[in-house]
Amino acid sequence: MALPVAEWQGRTARLWAALEPALRERLAAASLQDAVRLGCDVLRSKEEEEAALEQLCHRAPTGKKPEAASWYREQGNREFKRGRYQAALRLYSRVCLEDIARAESHGYPDRLLPKVLLRKAECLLCLGRLQDAQDVLRVLESKISLDGAMTTHLTRLKKLSQLKVKLGEKERCPEPAQGEHGGTQGEPEIWEENSSISGASSSLSLSFDAERGRHLVASQDIMAGQSLVKEEAFVSVLCPGESLALQDGDTAWDTRATNADLYCHRCLRQLLASVPCQGCSYAQYCSQDCADRAWQQYHRTECPLGALLLTLGVFCHVALRTVLLAGYAEVSRLVEGSHCEDKNLQNPEGSCRPLSEADAGAGSRGVPGCDSSGRYQSSYQALFHLLPHTELHSPEHKFLCTLSVAALCKQLQAAGLEAAVLSQESPQQCSKPKTCEKTSEELSPELKTVAEAMLRHMLQLQCNAQAITVMQEMGPGDGAVVDKKPVRLATAFFPVLSLLNHSCCPNTSVSFSRTSVTVRAAQPISSGQEVLHCYGPHWCRMRVAERQQLLRQYFFECRCPACLQELQSGVKSVVSIRNSFCCPKCRAQMQGEEDTLCCSIEACATSASRDHLSGRLQDLQQEIKKALELLGVGKADQAIKKLLKCQMDAETFLSPEHLLMGEMEDHLAQVYATVGKWQEAARHLRKSIEIVEMYHGPSSVETGHELFKLAQILFNGFAVSEALSTIQRAEGILSVHFGPQSAQMQELQEMKACLSELPRDILQRT
Ligand SMILES: [Zn+2]
Ligand SMILES: [Zn+2]
Ligand SMILES: [Zn+2]
Ligand SMILES: [Zn+2]
Repeated sequence: MALPVAEWQGRTARLWAALEPALRERLAAASLQDAVRLGCDVLRSKEEEEAALEQLCHRAPTGKKPEAASWYREQGNREFKRGRYQAALRLYSRVCLEDIARAESHGYPDRLLPKVLLRKAECLLCLGRLQDAQDVLRVLESKISLDGAMTTHLTRLKKLSQLKVKLGEKERCPEPAQGEHGGTQGEPEIWEENSSISGASSSLSLSFDAERGRHLVASQDIMAGQSLVKEEAFVSVLCPGESLALQDGDTAWDTRATNADLYCHRCLRQLLASVPCQGCSYAQYCSQDCADRAWQQYHRTECPLGALLLTLGVFCHVALRTVLLAGYAEVSRLVEGSHCEDKNLQNPEGSCRPLSEADAGAGSRGVPGCDSSGRYQSSYQALFHLLPHTELHSPEHKFLCTLSVAALCKQLQAAGLEAAVLSQESPQQCSKPKTCEKTSEELSPELKTVAEAMLRHMLQLQCNAQAITVMQEMGPGDGAVVDKKPVRLATAFFPVLSLLNHSCCPNTSVSFSRTSVTVRAAQPISSGQEVLHCYGPHWCRMRVAERQQLLRQYFFECRCPACLQELQSGVKSVVSIRNSFCCPKCRAQMQGEEDTLCCSIEACATSASRDHLSGRLQDLQQEIKKALELLGVGKADQAIKKLLKCQMDAETFLSPEHLLMGEMEDHLAQVYATVGKWQEAARHLRKSIEIVEMYHGPSSVETGHELFKLAQILFNGFAVSEALSTIQRAEGILSVHFGPQSAQMQELQEMKACLSELPRDILQRT
């Protein structure tokens, strides 16, 4: 998804292998500037490659399909009748979108839209999303009054008022609501911004040395939970999501949710009634304001290139949007500046080292990326100076990036979009770009500069791309207990966040709200310690070998305490000890690196083949998957039966601390919650929490989320005192990771408020 589609990767790899060896050598050692020049020459001599790329683009259609609306509506009604409100909601959102597009393009008012909006409001109500339901009802009211023909909507008006009454009832006792509510409860955070690093706390300082590069250090003692960095992404691009994976043939419209359907393409806000782009079926916005701004800033250039951008992948898209946001003046200033630096360095290989790490002195004045006053800002200048590691990437990878960028720039030129790229004003002639013309024209010098900057950004992204993740609701989403998992939403550049180095046992926690990031201290950090965050491979989740393998893409070897300990002492990581098989006879741990595993209790002497046990584990995972599918289609009883059977099977060959044991407990809790058996649900969830705590630690974000779920279950089961103490524990953990004003914290507050009023209600009832 980050890189171009596999077919294009394959073509460039074959092309690379077929190049003259001399040209390969030149390309491998080329500076970014020379790479772009050579890459454009290669592409110009290979018309068949361009044709192939165009073919691939046909599989990512981004044109409008008005006839899709009725199909989505039918599917939505089906889900609605089955009580699957989450799925119905997604489909209705698509209908609204398609209908709005159709109504706008044909100039007639749509008759079915109000009905869909009503259904949508009902879904939201069933899901307990009161605020969202209210918003939709407001849109509906204005729609109905706009149409003027009130009588045709009479039944709908009746339904509308019914829904409003229901809404009022629900509001009196707020359920644990979901989603974002940007309220202002909770204590305000202490925040003093650093005078020399924008977006960073004054308790940090920027340091630089040869080994660690730029990094942030605590300049005073820091408390757990304290905010350390608050930064708005310089650029972010929504990841299209799994189901937009390109497919051959024109099959039915996909009913699965994609990021593109659920979030605003500019600000990443969750979409309710979305505003689609006038020009493509891909970009959708939360508001007209976002649509207008996106158009002005970048989408007028991106819109006609939609399919090509999907084909070339998110990194390429981020690279383009970065230069569009920076503006051509700034791009050319910095690109030219980097050429001068190259000359000054007189690098004999001619490879591009835009940053002279060696001659940066002490203090932030000499640190690359700082402005003339020594201030490090979250700016294009800082972004430009993130290391592209030009000489460390494999030549094949550089070639792929170069050809992709060259193809994109050629298309920009061919589609008459060059003026839009180079000027910041909105040129009228660009609103109707020419359709793709075959052209063998060479790229203009300006576009070559743009291409060079884009190539730099693509290479930088390998080490500096930051995934923006959100906690997305999983499972059938019946509203009682919400299971959330982190989902990758967008890829972004955060120049200040990029200053943090990696550790597999980091001392910070990173969270996102739309396009902004907050880094908090996950534990007390004493003055002088480096502030570190985890790029992904965390010591709790992976063994050292896997971590080191994953970290290779960042061109460094991790020397964090966890890695050192595991590498030097040969100590097996906790992950491998806990995730082991157990003896079928005595349940002790099975040992051995070979194909045959032996019981660790000598007297037992039971042995088993590793393949056999791995096979059983796979079968078990399949069965669990089937159980969850049963839950998905509303067969909770059967799901419970299956899960209990899985559990019994697992006990005969998996260590009691195996992660899968915890997952099964978690699934059982989820199923029992859907049928309202709160005590059973709580019992299973407590066991799941034990295992999660063991793996991730008692104050980890994972434990926090589990406690949050337990609080919801106890809340629903009226287990007042335990609910209150669980809420308190969850608050203690989640406020450290997400701050006192986060959505999760507010939901906990609401539950607490509701519970405190409960005794009277219960007394009245009994
Ligand atoms: Zn928006
Ligand atoms: Zn568009
Ligand atoms: Zn490490
Ligand atoms: Zn044994």
